[in-house]
Amino acid sequence: MNQRQLCYLDNNATTQVAPEVLEAMLPFLREDWGNPSSAYTFGKQVAPHVDQAREKLAALLHADPREIIFTSCGTESNNAAIHSALITQPGKRHVITTAVEHSANIKYGQFLQKQGYEVTLLPVESDGSLDLHLLDMSIRPDTVIVSVMWANNETGVLFPIEEIAAICRSKGVPFHTDAVQTPGKLKIDVKATGVDFLSLSAHKLHAPKGIGLLYVKRHMKFSPYVIGGGQERGRRGGTEIAGFGRAAELAMASLHDENTRVRALRDRLENSVLRTIPGTVRTGAQEPRLPNTSNIAFDNVEAEAILMMLDQVGICASSGSACTTGSLDPSHVLLAMGITPARARGCIRFSLGIYNTDRDVDVLLEHLPRIISKLRAISPNERQGVARLGKEREIDPVST
Ligand code: PLP
Repeated sequence: MNQRQLCYLDNNATTQVAPEVLEAMLPFLREDWGNPSSAYTFGKQVAPHVDQAREKLAALLHADPREIIFTSCGTESNNAAIHSALITQPGKRHVITTAVEHSANIKYGQFLQKQGYEVTLLPVESDGSLDLHLLDMSIRPDTVIVSVMWANNETGVLFPIEEIAAICRSKGVPFHTDAVQTPGKLKIDVKATGVDFLSLSAHKLHAPKGIGLLYVKRHMKFSPYVIGGGQERGRRGGTEIAGFGRAAELAMASLHDENTRVRALRDRLENSVLRTIPGTVRTGAQEPRLPNTSNIAFDNVEAEAILMMLDQVGICASSGSACTTGSLDPSHVLLAMGITPARARGCIRFSLGIYNTDRDVDVLLEHLPRIISKLRAISPNERQGVARLGKEREIDPVST
């Protein structure tokens, strides 16, 4: 589809590569494509650029560059943090995470359970918040790690990372946070928050897919998840990393825009939808929440059908988690918040970003009321038809 016609409201799924990021990457695709760990100059000359990118990402996190490990994605970073905690504390077999994590944690937890580990999935309240007393009570002498996301990808709801880190510290248990949805929207200061591990993913901050980062606090024991070449430092091509480094600078520069202009766009979108379309309700707490995310339940309509009709007019949004797309299974995040399966099936996530303008919100508001009325007018039989269609698509379960 023509990019100019696209109304992209799915920035929590992935983001457009920023022109500045592409620009930063091109020299490493065109001319300087050597391996930074080679012995000859053509390769070696790339290494300082990898180091520069590491420094920029360290600056984004207020970390030391030595605390940054490049990975292939956010999923790998999450898996690597938990894996490392298990390997470095042999004999301990209990992992704590929450019921609303990304599938990177939920599915890895299921895998660990099959290996005989014990995994506690902390429940959440109806507004998506966490009971910290329950977290405190759940930590045991054999708990290896607590892994709790900072910002929920479906609802935008924020967890109090500093308080969670303090609880874990007081019990001597390492704390990992999945901060994949936060760069450019929240200030990230690993020292102030006191986290031990933190995951990021480049494609959520206007850099390419295929690269992630794991922050590992200095002196924290670490055992690699992907085994092959010892330290990752200097062992990856400069291309994506140069782009990721530039994206880190842009994320810091966009903090203000995300928290003022994008927040205002999100609020206008949300308030207008709730006011003008009957049978709608916001899902999750209003605050604390990411400034770009709005999750809205549309009663008596299937999200899948709404998304199909939005797609026909060039509007991209999401039914919260793509693992629900295609299967029509309600989102595990919304169910964990006590939302009924019927209501959860009618929830849409709108996630905005720095490239969205008033026009995008106008386009959505022009089409959405008509789409909802039209769908609500359809007979239940036809709604089942839509459900069948979704099931027949057989999309692999992936959450974003
Ligand atoms: N964690 C969260 C909160 C996410 O939203 C995502 C992606 O949607 C991931 C982890 C996984 O990141 P990646 O796509 O880089 O594996």
